[in-house]
Amino acid sequence: MDHFTLLDGVLHAEDVPLPAIAEAVGTPVYVYSRATIERHAAVFREALAPLDNPHIAFAVKANPNLAVLRVLARQGYGADVVSGGELIRALAAGMKPEDIVFSGVGKTHAELEQGLRENIGQFNIESEEEGYELALIARRMGKTARCALRVNPDVDARTHEKISTGKSENKFGVPLDRAAAIYTALAGEDGLDMRGIAVHIGSQLASLEPLETAFGKVGALIAELRAAGCTVTHADLGGGLGVPYRAGEVLPAPAEYGAMVARVTRDWDVRLMFEPGRVIAGNAGVLLTRVVRVKRGLTHPFVVVDAAMNDLARPALYGAWHDFEAVEPTGQRTTAHIVGPICETGDTFAMNRECDALTTGDLAVFRTAGAYGATMASSYNSRGFVAEVLVDGDRFATVADRIAPSAIMDAERMPEWLA
Ligand SMILES: *Cc1c(COP(=O)(O)O)cnc(C)c1O
Repeated sequence: MDHFTLLDGVLHAEDVPLPAIAEAVGTPVYVYSRATIERHAAVFREALAPLDNPHIAFAVKANPNLAVLRVLARQGYGADVVSGGELIRALAAGMKPEDIVFSGVGKTHAELEQGLRENIGQFNIESEEEGYELALIARRMGKTARCALRVNPDVDARTHEKISTGKSENKFGVPLDRAAAIYTALAGEDGLDMRGIAVHIGSQLASLEPLETAFGKVGALIAELRAAGCTVTHADLGGGLGVPYRAGEVLPAPAEYGAMVARVTRDWDVRLMFEPGRVIAGNAGVLLTRVVRVKRGLTHPFVVVDAAMNDLARPALYGAWHDFEAVEPTGQRTTAHIVGPICETGDTFAMNRECDALTTGDLAVFRTAGAYGATMASSYNSRGFVAEVLVDGDRFATVADRIAPSAIMDAERMPEWLA
């Protein structure tokens, strides 16, 4: 459920009519609903109520906006970060260092140092090599790094290949059949406190089955490690729950997920950790855009909007579907191609889409743009970075300024020998 609804024929974010935001901030602009973020955070937490004191870390990469992170920090959420930049953001937003988990297959030497300096809660180590490097740095700094070993369970998450992370050919984690040996070796390193296993098999999962299979393998590994004399007190089950991108689409509910986890992990005797991203932020945001013009096409018209693949990359990257709706629908429907202004055919949001009829100057939204939206923006075609707005009841605030093309150009330098 979200708080983007039609009131008196005008699409609102909570109590704010979207045309008011377009008027004040311009378009394209991402609009997030605080009530929706908080609701999703609460629903996910309640879904885990059968578990004893679960740790929930929002996957910052899904939506790293500081105000969004602050809303989640106030809900008691920690952060799952995958770069030094995300770590800085999580801390700046008010997340406690001990509630921060550092994931990622390519943490640099400097990032490992940064995590230790900030005394973060846990490193999810993705290779034996990374473990030895972290141990060396920790010893030099006189610290101990709390660690989980990320395993690759070789499970097909049955999602888009580019967001599948748990197959043996993917770059993430260590192979299950080597995990016990690596864990045991790293547990013997001074500077490391090997305390758990982590797993994350992919994103936008439409079925709980692959997750259950992966968790089952983690449970067996934990038993094997304990039988070998290792200590295991934590298990990080990652994120991945899918969200409906089309009206009416049905995905596993967080409560079903929580019940499955409770069943599978009943005998584990660990503190469970979670890293939800999309399921918290996805439906809490829309990309508000204005129709530049409607161009006649061969079979259907092209609705050219002022948002493009640089603002919302998912359709171009993954062929992803985003519902597209008029902000002030007339009731008239049409079939159209929805495209942005960028000079490549990849800049297509939808072909042959049945949608609200729109004309030049009309406002429309791409729904479910709160996760993996603004965070993936680029300045391709020398377009600026899109603005972001957070709505709270009947008020709203710009939480990320639009960055003008000229400001991006300001960071460029002409070498003396071309002056
Ligand atoms: C991306 C990612 C997540 C979040 O995935 P969602 O599908 O957005 O829930 C969690 N953990 C790790 C390690 C990730 O890379």
